[in-house]
Amino acid sequence: MTECEVCGAEIKGAAQYVVIGDSKLRVCKACAHYGTVVVENKNVRAGPMAHAKANSRLYEQMDHDLEVEVEEDYGRKLKEAREKAGLKQAELANRINEKQSLLRKIENEEIVPSDDVMRKIKRVLNL
Ligand SMILES: [Zn+2]
Repeated sequence: MTECEVCGAEIKGAAQYVVIGDSKLRVCKACAHYGTVVVENKNVRAGPMAHAKANSRLYEQMDHDLEVEVEEDYGRKLKEAREKAGLKQAELANRINEKQSLLRKIENEEIVPSDDVMRKIKRVLNL
């Protein structure tokens, strides 16, 4: 079976591949937004060049968004805020309905949190 390398869930249907930092990870649909999607499908039928061009524009846009959103030391800041709130990783993960492994990776700055996840964290921690 194929597992998502971010959340560990079984991937049903086609796996997606995203680049997060320097590593390429196989992820489920839900986790694809944590990184930049790379096209692994070798069965692309028509106009591969046109696709590549459209995609690279999209990637540039995504990179730009990431640069704007990500705070310096976001992992450390998150950890401090969580500890100040007296929450364990598992408890915070539970409150925001995400896996503890995801939270751990965010705190280790292995993963850049999505806007959605960041919003949920900030709501719980009153940031
Ligand atoms: Zn996943």
